Amino acid sequence: MNSAAMMPLALPHPSAPPGETRLLADWYTTGRPATLNDHLTRYGPPPVAAALGSRTSVPLVEAVEAAGLTGRGGAGFPTARKLRAVAERRGRAVVVVNAMESEPASCKDQFLSTVAPHLVLDGAVLAAAAVGADTVHICLPRDRATQHRQLSAALDERRRARLDPVRLRLQALPHPYVSSESTSLVRWLNGGPARPQGSPPRTHERGVHRRPTLVNNAETLAHLALIARYGPDWYRQAGTPDEPGTTLVTLSGAVAATGVLEAALGTSITTLLDRAGEPTEPLQAVLLGGFAGTWLPRAHLHTPLARRDLAPLGAAPGAGVLIALPRAACGLSETAQILAYLAAHSARQCGPCHLGLPAVAEDFTALAAGRADPGLLPRLRRRTGLLPDRGACRHPDGAARLAASALRAFADDVDHHLTHGPCPAAHQPPRIPIPPATPPETWR
Ligand code: SF4
Repeated sequence: MNSAAMMPLALPHPSAPPGETRLLADWYTTGRPATLNDHLTRYGPPPVAAALGSRTSVPLVEAVEAAGLTGRGGAGFPTARKLRAVAERRGRAVVVVNAMESEPASCKDQFLSTVAPHLVLDGAVLAAAAVGADTVHICLPRDRATQHRQLSAALDERRRARLDPVRLRLQALPHPYVSSESTSLVRWLNGGPARPQGSPPRTHERGVHRRPTLVNNAETLAHLALIARYGPDWYRQAGTPDEPGTTLVTLSGAVAATGVLEAALGTSITTLLDRAGEPTEPLQAVLLGGFAGTWLPRAHLHTPLARRDLAPLGAAPGAGVLIALPRAACGLSETAQILAYLAAHSARQCGPCHLGLPAVAEDFTALAAGRADPGLLPRLRRRTGLLPDRGACRHPDGAARLAASALRAFADDVDHHLTHGPCPAAHQPPRIPIPPATPPETWR
């Protein structure tokens, strides 16, 4: 879904309750990407002066804190804490916009930065004002020429309008899966390979050119741009008290319409599927969060899309990805394919990715093929359990979460595969499009 050629679609608007369409409001009004004029007509210029803070108080950070904004890149980290950690450092800071979106099943950031580029850029400029930065780097995959052209045109519009008090730079990075990890961006901007680097130093202390660096996801910054204008109370009118606001979700799989939708946090998974025109086949499960996400069996589809409700199921919204898996598919085969991709797309720097993850992927392929091996399941469980918390980044942790959730969600299939061999669906082509599992050609 996340291919450069395919322009992601927004799902039909009418199905969303009023107040739940914020980032995509202009898109639904005009049906075309917003120019700077459209943007300024709807929102006015970014309130940079109001964002400017002092060493003791930074109004924008306090507003973001009161709003309860969390990151939309996958980890859900409180945005105000990130802003404050950089703002409190000495020296000129740097802001990095993470629009890499290496998650193959996600295209929300690509869509947002195409249809509402100035919301993302406003957010970056406001964040820069709040943390005392003079430079913003907007990081995109170099294999997305269309997106580059569109964002470059948006930057030209702003330059001609002399809108921004900071330098905005578009950066074209290599696009392996783990190159969207925040330390990979900083490492590449410092002239190194776009691979994760362990810490210390932490990016908010010494990041780009050894300066305090703020890395934020494109969608997070767009929300920040609206909070700066409308305030925390407005932001909290959508979502739940614990998880306020709206979020962008990429829906795919066995649904009538695939694409990006905006919904209030706390909306149930079933409602999200219905907004995608309902499932096209009876479902057995959904993959939530992306390739490094969690399988949720059909019995849990009433669960709200909120961290608090998903955590007991070992799940999280992740990068806002929802893939509907039909009953006619084989969840074990789909999982084996995804694990093979994740194993091939690690940075191969740490033990868990050198040995552990490829071994888990191999075991899962054997399970999907129904290879008779009494030691297979205990070995797979043991190896999966050894992956988390041992790498320089969370890549193996995500793979372990996916594998463990598949063993739970498809437990009946596990027994069947090990006792009677693969189910008929295991011989069918996979339902989830998976990019080639070939190791990245370059990291620079
Ligand atoms: S954990 Fe894996 S993906 Fe992450 S840095 Fe280490 S080798 Fe790379």
